[in-house]
Order: sequence, then structure tokens, then C-alpha cells
Amino acid sequence: MKQFKAESKRLLDLMINSIYTNKEIFLRELISNASDAIDKLYYKSLTDKNINISREDFFIKIDIDKENRSLKISDNGIGMTEEELENNLGTIAKSGSLAFKEENEKKDNIDIIGQFGVGFYSAFMVSDSITVNSKSYLTKDKAYSWTSKGAEGYKIEEIQKENIGTEIIMHIKENTEEENYSDFLEDFRIKEIVKKYSDYIPYPIKMEVIHQRKKENVENEYEEYVEEETLNSRIPLWKRNKTEITEDEYNSFYIDNFSDYEKPLKVIHSFVEGGFSYNSLLFIPSHLPYNYYGKDTEKGLKLYSNGVLIMEKCEELLPDYFGFVKGLVDSQDLSLNISREMLQHDRQLRVIAKSLEKKINSELKIMINEKREEYEKFFANFGLQLKFGVYNDFGINKDSLQDLLLFYSSKEKKLVTLKEYVARMKEEQKNIYYACGESIEKIDLLPQVEAVKEKGFEILYLTENVDEFVIQTIMEYDKKTFINVSADKLDLSSEEEKAELEKANKDSKEMFEKMKDALGGEVQEVRFTNRLKNHPVCLTSEGPISVEMEKVINSMPNDQKVKAKLVLEINEKHKIVDKLKELNSKEDKEALNKYTKVLYSQARLIEGLSLENPTEISNIICDIMSK
Ligand code: ADP
Repeated sequence: MKQFKAESKRLLDLMINSIYTNKEIFLRELISNASDAIDKLYYKSLTDKNINISREDFFIKIDIDKENRSLKISDNGIGMTEEELENNLGTIAKSGSLAFKEENEKKDNIDIIGQFGVGFYSAFMVSDSITVNSKSYLTKDKAYSWTSKGAEGYKIEEIQKENIGTEIIMHIKENTEEENYSDFLEDFRIKEIVKKYSDYIPYPIKMEVIHQRKKENVENEYEEYVEEETLNSRIPLWKRNKTEITEDEYNSFYIDNFSDYEKPLKVIHSFVEGGFSYNSLLFIPSHLPYNYYGKDTEKGLKLYSNGVLIMEKCEELLPDYFGFVKGLVDSQDLSLNISREMLQHDRQLRVIAKSLEKKINSELKIMINEKREEYEKFFANFGLQLKFGVYNDFGINKDSLQDLLLFYSSKEKKLVTLKEYVARMKEEQKNIYYACGESIEKIDLLPQVEAVKEKGFEILYLTENVDEFVIQTIMEYDKKTFINVSADKLDLSSEEEKAELEKANKDSKEMFEKMKDALGGEVQEVRFTNRLKNHPVCLTSEGPISVEMEKVINSMPNDQKVKAKLVLEINEKHKIVDKLKELNSKEDKEALNKYTKVLYSQARLIEGLSLENPTEISNIICDIMSK
């Protein structure tokens, strides 16, 4: 009995005692090895005239022997010599990979085995004894057998074997309480695993499957017969020519593979050639997945290495803001194996991720221009995600995402892009106007909105909590500043009008001080405004926190409470002003206080803010009414 090298023994121990739940991947590993071995012989055959085999003759075969609990995987690939059996199966060639694996195996949740090939030894997760019979194309007259029951060691002896190639015979473990190993002896289960991981292996994976059929000429009697099936479909959809794929094929591929019941809104299928080539097939779902904005949603794409699934959900391939995209990436330049340098691996993924991101972005932009209705549907589902993308990470991605946003336009009465808004701006217009509120209807009724509309300017109506934060993150679009019609200084009036307003404010300064006092510090200032047209009052804010932001921030759990600096603005042209002035000149302080409180309450209600003392206000109103 020969001993495994120390590192191999440790890896074996890891496999034998693996608590890894995804044991089925052993089959993927063995099939990939077989496929690699065939590749090798095939490439040799291209130059070596002594090798007489054509591509169609290659195959991988799976045999199940339930009685003996044995599972066999054979190939007619390159085979192994005695030394190769010794070197390949007795040692792990590349050190470092094991250390990595051990370290990560301990961390929960890291799907290390699922992410990187662990190779041949993974077969020990499901079997207690393994025999590898192999005949190399180099030593056609000699074949060897390698056997091991695990950690104690292995034996190699000469055997008789007719054909070149390798067969791996596993004795499947007895069932335990946790694991039903017998599953791996069921043909439906094997079929399922092959379909899942190895469907696109380029060589046929064959298995004899038992079927039943009705006996001829006999009623109600069945007989069994065996038929050899090819389990894999071999050519992945994403490797086929785009022009030959029907919409139905894409749709059912999506539904079959990405646990959705509706066809996708958009399919993005690309081939990227170059220093680093890959195929990608991406889908944008047509509806919001259940609980999409909840905590548990995981983004990611399937990752294939030349047709072999190596990662079910590779997060690194998608930025969070495109987390709704489903699909896969296949690259022949990616190794299935852990043994490749991890860092290099990461760099390759980053290159792909960057180019996918660009592709998705540009496809969405095309959709905005060419299929607006479709885009609106998309935006209704995932617009919020894009907005978070603009806002998160201190706005680092705003430049690439801002043109994907849609906001409701007061003028167009539909969703528009910032680009469209700017293109329509009037010559004298310097800023982009927006207003915030709970709904389009409510914003439309805001007194502050009226005057801006009156001047013929378009206003963007922001109705989602995150909107104003997004706008503040963008700060400027096409060198135009965003102006909140109810917070910022609006520059709508002429110099003359401005001077007039200033004078009016000065003249009533003393009255405003009294009114401010009446509100007991609720507002920063009371003043006249010309931002109103018909309405008597409105609330505006000064400083970085607007009224809407105050509402949003304060509704978040565990967050510091903030307060917008409020200003009560009164329409100088409104007839209520005469009344206020009259009360002030009569020195009727009590009445002025009451009027002020009512006006302030109205302004709060219009803004969608609640009243802190509704009974008091109700009493005051009745008082005034009954005078
Ligand atoms: P890896 O495939 O990552 O190199 P494995 O442990 O799966 O690691 O296999 C080790 C080596 O054994 C392979 O590199 C290959 O040279 C050889 N090998 C495994 N399976 C076969 C096979 N079916 N035919 C020929 N060689 C094989």
C-alpha cells in the first residue's frame, strides 16, 4: 500500500468527512476530467497520425450497478500511464490551493467546493472505495488500476483493459441519517445532475436507462427494456448563433433555468472576443421578483467554464444596481479549477463584470429611446434599484446611471429623462425645477408649483422617498442645478419685482417678528413671497434638509431625527395680507397670533405635514368663524 503525500491526505480527509451539502458535484468533476482527457486525445489526434479516432467517436459513459452499489464513469480519452496514475491521483500538484481550501472550508456559507473544482478527490464525498482503470494512448499494450479506500493509501497494479481511456468505478457509501447516498444510484438522479452541471459538455454523456413498455398483444402487461440515452444536450444555447435562436427558445430557456414563470422583458445575448473572450446571455425579468427589495435577495450570474457550470451565483459579475439581471457567463479562459491563481481569477471576473455592466447600461439606453413603453415597465419594477445605485457609495456611479432615470414631468404629463427635460428647457431657464410630494396629484396642488408652472417652466415631480436624495447626489445635470421649488431660492422674478418684495418685507418686519413669536420657534422666519400665485401661504425650507427629506429621514427606524428649517411664506398679493396688517396696526396681538397659527397650520397641511395641536387649531378656527 502506498501512502498519499501529506497534502493529498489532508484534502482527502476533508472530502471523506465533508459536511458539504452539495455532494452531487462530484459527478461534475469526474465528467469534466473525462471531457478534458478526451480533449487532450483529440488535440493529439490532429497532429499524430497514429491516433485513429474521429471526433464523433468520443463519448463518456455512466453505468449504474445498484446491486453492487457501484457507479462507473468511463471515457475514451487520453488515459493515464502508471506514472501518471501515481502522480495525478496520489499527489496534489499545486500546493497552496489546499491551504486555501482548508481555510475556507471552515468558514460557513462559503461555497468553496461549489465555486472551484476540487477534482477527482471529491468522489470520496460519496464513495468509500474508488478504482481507476486506465490505459494511456502512450502504452497501448499495458493498462493499470489504481485503488483506494481513502486516507490509508492506494495501490497500483497492472490489469487487462481493452481500450484506451479511463474508467472510474466508485463504491457508493451506505446511507446515513443525514445523507441518502443511494440516490446516486438512481438513473433519474444521475440524469438530473448531468443536466444541471454538465449539459453543455461537448461530448455525449451516455447511460443505459431502463424504460417500460406495453407488451405487444397482451393487455395490461408491461416489460422492461434498456435504451442508451445521451443525457446532455451538448451545445449550449448561448453558444449558438443569435440569428438561429427563436424568441421562444430564449424564453423557455429563461423559464427553465432561472426560476421564473414569466418570459423575460429583455434578452441580451453577446459574444465578446479579444484578450479575454466570453459569451453571455442575460435576462431582465418582466416583473418584480417576490420580495425583491427585501434583505434576502441575492444577485449573481451563473458562471460556466467552457460549458461546465462552476458557480451557481457569481455575485462579482453584477453591480448591485443591476442586481435584477439574471443569466450566465461562459468563458473558456476561466479555469474550472481551484488550482489557478485566485487573484488572477478575480481579475478576470472583474474584466467581464465591467464589460457586462457597460453592455446592460447601453441596452437599457437603447430601450429608453426605442421601446419607451417597455422601458417604463422595466422602470416601474427596477427604477428604485437604479435610484439606489445613483445614491449609494457617495454617488460614484451617478454619471453612468443618471440617464437611466425617469421622472414625471409637469409639462409632458408622463415620465421623462433628464436629457429630455434639458433639451426642452426655455432659453432663459437656468435651472432644473423639481417638487416633492406623496403623489403626482398632491404635488400638482402645491402652491409653490403654481408660480413656476405659470412662468412656463417644466417641473419634475418626485414621489419616491429616495428621489430627493438622488437629485441631491446628482447635484448638477448638464451644468444645470436642480432647484426644489419649495426649498430653494427661486429666481423667477425681475430685478424690479425683487426690489419691491424686499421693500415689502422690510416694511412688515415688525409684524413678521410678532408672527414668528406666535409660532414659538416652529419657523425660522415669516416673510412675503412672490413664488405664490393664488394661494395665501406655503411652507418652504432653508438649508440642506427639505420638508420632504425631513419626513423621509424621520420615518426611518433608529435614525436620528432631523428638522428642516421652515419658513412661512405669505403671498403678498393675497387679501389676507390686508387683514394681517390691520390686526397688527390695531395692536390686536391675540387675533394676530390666532391668524398666524391658522395660516401656519394650513401651510403644514398643504405640505402633507401633520399638526401637533389640532384641537387648539380647531378651536381657533371656530373662534374666528363665530366672530
Ligand atoms: P485537476 O483536474 O484539477 O487537475 P483532478 O484531481 O481532478 O485535478 O485530476 C488530477 C489529474 O488526473 C488531472 O489533471 C488529469 O491529468 C488526471 N485525470 C483525472 N481524470 C482523468 C481521466 N478521466 N482521464 C485521464 N486523466 C485523468
